[in-house]
Amino acid sequence: MDNLQKKIVELKKEKKAVILAHNYQIPQIQEIADFLGDSLELARISRKLKERIIVLCGVRFMAETVKILSPEKKVILPVMGAGCPMADMITREDILKEKTAHPGAWVVSYVNTSAEVKAVSDVCCTSSNAVKVVENVPVDKVIFVPDKNLGWWVEKNVPGKKIFSWQGYCLVHEEFSLKDLEESKKLYPEAEVIVHPECRREILERADYVMSTSGMLKRAKESKSTKFIIGTEEGMIYRLKKENPAKEFCSLGTPKVCVNMKKTTLQDVYHSLESEKYNIEIDPVVIEKASLALERMVSYI
Ligand code: SF4
Repeated sequence: MDNLQKKIVELKKEKKAVILAHNYQIPQIQEIADFLGDSLELARISRKLKERIIVLCGVRFMAETVKILSPEKKVILPVMGAGCPMADMITREDILKEKTAHPGAWVVSYVNTSAEVKAVSDVCCTSSNAVKVVENVPVDKVIFVPDKNLGWWVEKNVPGKKIFSWQGYCLVHEEFSLKDLEESKKLYPEAEVIVHPECRREILERADYVMSTSGMLKRAKESKSTKFIIGTEEGMIYRLKKENPAKEFCSLGTPKVCVNMKKTTLQDVYHSLESEKYNIEIDPVVIEKASLALERMVSYI
């Protein structure tokens, strides 16, 4: 642990704070986090915590999700400008228009959305439970937002329902190409190919497994395979290697980086703890409505 990491750990104790970090954060932040996980895992953990302050190292929608589920806590996002371009591809107004265009359809929104979007959704989902959630909604028509690739994956796996998929996408996962896949397979023909459902459709069709980051961790531990080609943001590869030192992990093609996830530095974490900024604030009415969509998701899985 370097000096700054030690200072953060001390300050965290003094302030009685907890640091939650997403799997895509830089290694130095992963090392000092109390908990690591995907966005839903972090939000669920936050509910069980006794500490007054939660520092969320990730992007804004994740901090908002934590706040929605734990409104009584102070939730801090170290870098206010750390957003998610995919979450910004859909607004509350877009959802209202979609509802008018498809009467009777339920809105299923991926957790990568703003609190305002969640508040006008019927139910939320994550990349690990999207198929199950859509199977369980009590209607045959679904407006799925905002990721077109996850939407396609859901459509393929829930053939009995009509899916109206929004055409948003993740800039990072869209970068994985078929050429990347072919070249990686040539280099490591025996490796298992595990990709995130935000990747392009042609990648999802050819991968051995399509999984969320928590699914990837589980698969890597259980599999008899010792080599894996991973199609997700490079921060995840650091965690996979650390938790499975006897196995090999490489990126599908060149490592892909989410600039927003990498905006948070150790300095930012230190200053955010010191100044208790940036405090996430959400209208209580929005919190109430968005929490219903999140609670409904939990009841469906
Ligand atoms: S990896 Fe993609 S979905 Fe995740 S925060 Fe970055 S841009 Fe958003």
